[in-house]
Amino acid sequence: MTIRYVGATEQQRERMDESQKIIRKCIKDKRAKIPPPLLEELKDMLDDKRTVIEVEVKKDEQLGFPEPSQGNWAHWGSGGGRYIEINSRCFDPWTKKGKEKPPRLTAVLLHEMVHIAGGNELDAESFENILVSEKDGAVPPSKEDEKEFRDCKYCGVYVSMNRKTRRVSFPGTEDTSRAITPSAPRVTVGTLKREQEAPAKKK
Ligand SMILES: [Zn+2]
Repeated sequence: MTIRYVGATEQQRERMDESQKIIRKCIKDKRAKIPPPLLEELKDMLDDKRTVIEVEVKKDEQLGFPEPSQGNWAHWGSGGGRYIEINSRCFDPWTKKGKEKPPRLTAVLLHEMVHIAGGNELDAESFENILVSEKDGAVPPSKEDEKEFRDCKYCGVYVSMNRKTRRVSFPGTEDTSRAITPSAPRVTVGTLKREQEAPAKKK
């Protein structure tokens, strides 16, 4: 393993090993359409002994959010450089609108790995939702994420999204040194679901 764990219990380490296995399987699936440069980066993180990534598990209070019981939660995870921070609640089931949801660990790990590979929010959300299933913790983009998509004009570093159809695709040339022309054939990664609209809240 080239991912080094910090601040994790034995059981959390085992769970993260398990998540890495799931991610490896997802990215090796021939049906998965992943832009070749991103695929290389992900493989490098998972398998290349020369690259070390640190994954640190932290609790809400260590992240500066002392009262999670009041819904005052820190982020699920964050990633940059060669470092990923994982909130310890990623290991547990959680509830959303009264419904129990599976632990988010695998999806959050992959999401942060895409950020480490240089991807922006659209890239991270796309691969989290298209490669990983809901049972492995994927959740559709939040309102804040959608705002980031708008701000980047629906363009990621690796993929772009058609805002009407929400189809996510990338230019179908493996030669990344070549200028990307609008006429280049595109490879569709999948369709990014929208978060179910919540009924408008009265303030
Ligand atoms: Zn993100």
